[in-house]
Amino acid sequence: MRVSQLFTKTSKTVPGDEVARNAQLLIQAGFIHKEMAGVYAYLPLGLRVLENIKNIVREEMNGIGGQEVSMTTLQPRDIWEKTDRWDDQKVDNWFKTKLANGTELGVGLTHEEPVVDMAGNFVHSYKDLPFYTYQIAPKFRNELRAKSGLLRGREFLMKDMYSFARTQEEHEQLYERAVEAYCRVYERLGLGDMTYRTYADGGIFTSRFSDEFQTLSEVGEDRIFVDEAKKVAINEEILTDENLQKLGLNRENLVEKRGVEVGNTFHLESKYTDALDVYYVDDQGNKQSIIMGCYGIGISRLMGVVAEHFSDDKGLVWPENIAPYQVYLVRIGGEEAVKHANALYEELTGIGVDVLYDDRDERPGAKFADAELIGIPHRVTVSDRLITSETYEYVARNGGAATELTRHELLVKLGRPNN
Ligand code: ATP
Ligand code: MG
Repeated sequence: MRVSQLFTKTSKTVPGDEVARNAQLLIQAGFIHKEMAGVYAYLPLGLRVLENIKNIVREEMNGIGGQEVSMTTLQPRDIWEKTDRWDDQKVDNWFKTKLANGTELGVGLTHEEPVVDMAGNFVHSYKDLPFYTYQIAPKFRNELRAKSGLLRGREFLMKDMYSFARTQEEHEQLYERAVEAYCRVYERLGLGDMTYRTYADGGIFTSRFSDEFQTLSEVGEDRIFVDEAKKVAINEEILTDENLQKLGLNRENLVEKRGVEVGNTFHLESKYTDALDVYYVDDQGNKQSIIMGCYGIGISRLMGVVAEHFSDDKGLVWPENIAPYQVYLVRIGGEEAVKHANALYEELTGIGVDVLYDDRDERPGAKFADAELIGIPHRVTVSDRLITSETYEYVARNGGAATELTRHELLVKLGRPNN
């Protein structure tokens, strides 16, 4: 992609209506557009990051056998009445709407009822189980406060997965396998070290705890108490002596931290399947309940967390795995530089390296400032000065001084030594 063609531009001014650093940076660098509080559009650069995060999540969910679907945003009222959740007292942050004839609808804020209703068409016998199904789709929640940029949207992107098992034992296996996949997701996003499996409230239908995945951050809304040795934490909401004892945790070694909830997995027991009359028949011909788990990851929230965490006073510092492009190619100088930069751009894109090519007739300082703000991992400069020595100037966005590299050394840096 050529910067001269990109329809978005960077901005030097910090948006006055944003207090969250992730939103300030992402707006200034041209990744997102604020439609209104808690509602953001993704611009070309931002969409590439979002897609990269989605793909990591998708690979890990597919890796444990998750089957992807896409459910609807508009939801009928009756399925929510069967679980007794339509009432605003039970679920308080719904957007609801009406058909022209007055029929009330829910606007998707979660999908347990629809997924069970859908699965009910296909699940009859023990042979039809177990399975996981998931989607990556927008969710809508009428959040009271939406001042944290992508960390708290009124419209946001979630991956939600659901497991259907025949027995409690089978459920436990599916559940732990999903948790392991979650850990791999955070690892691949560069957040593994600072993300804790955290015991939390289990929701209205079970006495068991849920597992939240909390990424340590000063801007986190949740207070958690971390056991560093065991690499687990407990949410303040359930911090009682009785629970500590149940979990085998000791109050004295726990350290208080702030966290952002980047995922949450629940044991649903058979509350939803029973309520929606979805059962299976076992190999003896007996009708049995189906045990469910549900597993959410905040995709857009994760983008905000990464932006917030991997940044410095100059701008964003994307981890390689999810960066919108791998190389920011800067061209400085006259005709010769143009020729060489064009050739390098063609060569790198030809071998599959994603390059954002700053081919504008801008001052070098302005180009470097944009490179830093946008936060692409590798910056490569082609300049008149270096053409005779057949080298490129190379700077890694995550630190280190500028060095001069030969073509081969550059390809090694980019992980393509054999080209
Ligand atoms: P919170 O306590 O932060 O409001 P929640 O517990 O209501 O979140 P869940 O229903 O558990 O959220 O949703 C699953 C995941 O979706 C959360 O772990 C979080 O990562 C993400 N998520 C929830 N609400 C939002 C939101 N308003 N904006 C962005 N991501 C969200
Ligand atoms: Mg939650």
